[in-house]
Amino acid sequence: MSKVAVVGAGTMGNGIAHVFGQHGWDVVLIDVSEAALAAGLATIRKYVERLEKKGAISHQLAADTLGRIKTSKSLDTAKGSQIVVEAATENPGIKFEIFTALSRLLPPDTVLASNTSSISISEIAKHTNGPDKVIGMHFMNPVPVMKLVEVIRGQETSSDTVKQTVEIVRDLGKTPVEVNDAPGFVSNRVLMPMINEAIFCVQDGIATAAGVDEVMKLGMNHPLGPLALADLIGLDVCLAILKVLQDGLDAHKYQPAPLLEKMVAQGQLGRKSGQGFYAYRD
Ligand code: NAD
Repeated sequence: MSKVAVVGAGTMGNGIAHVFGQHGWDVVLIDVSEAALAAGLATIRKYVERLEKKGAISHQLAADTLGRIKTSKSLDTAKGSQIVVEAATENPGIKFEIFTALSRLLPPDTVLASNTSSISISEIAKHTNGPDKVIGMHFMNPVPVMKLVEVIRGQETSSDTVKQTVEIVRDLGKTPVEVNDAPGFVSNRVLMPMINEAIFCVQDGIATAAGVDEVMKLGMNHPLGPLALADLIGLDVCLAILKVLQDGLDAHKYQPAPLLEKMVAQGQLGRKSGQGFYAYRD
């Protein structure tokens, strides 16, 4: 039986834990917050029950998936994992600390993957004593639904680590795309400027949020408008990614819209806070 530790039980972490659990892995979901663990587990249960109700998975698989996922507040419980997927808050200091602790705790053959949206994998790797085992494993939101995983090779990531990660991604029923380490990788380098421009359109009074989203859905055939997508991602996460693009590439080109800064400062973070460009009841 394979074991994975997922660090961070928020929007992404609980989805990643769910997908590993559904594919036969023993999962320990680790977070510093008891409330985040409880909410993460509740979200997993809701998704799994919905899949069962739709007939997408059997009753047995639903029960097995839930039975395989344990929660913990201690990184020590990552011991015995073949791979750790870190999905904690998008903050370099937090990630560096987690990776330093993990590389002290776990044997050198453990793959240490980060789900970071934008922080340099090579920088994260510098905070470990085994940079060859550090890799980016960038799942998309919502994890149980989205097929893509960007696999990011840091400067010192070994080919063996890339191969193991690609195999795991395929075993999870997802499609890996290998990219090199650069701010925002490919997905967010392309996506975030679009979201930022959509926010500028609202800020400048060119259209309402719903109007901007309709233009992009009907005109560009996007399944979700950029502002609904920003709410799904989390406005704080969008802001953090734009700041990484600004610092790493071009301070002017990636300047976050003041409206985005304001909404985040006011705690309007999108779906997870109940209010973003749209209001959410559940
Ligand atoms: P989130 O805010 O929903 O969850 C982050 C979780 O990390 C919280 O529960 C927090 O308590 C926990 N945490 C903070 N410090 C920790 C620590 N030291 N140890 C353990 N847990 C800790 O964030 P999210 O949206 O799930 O994002 C997580 C990561 O995934 C980020 O790196 C983000 O950039 C990336 N990501 C996000 C999306 C998205 O759409 N939200 C998509 C792809 C990648």
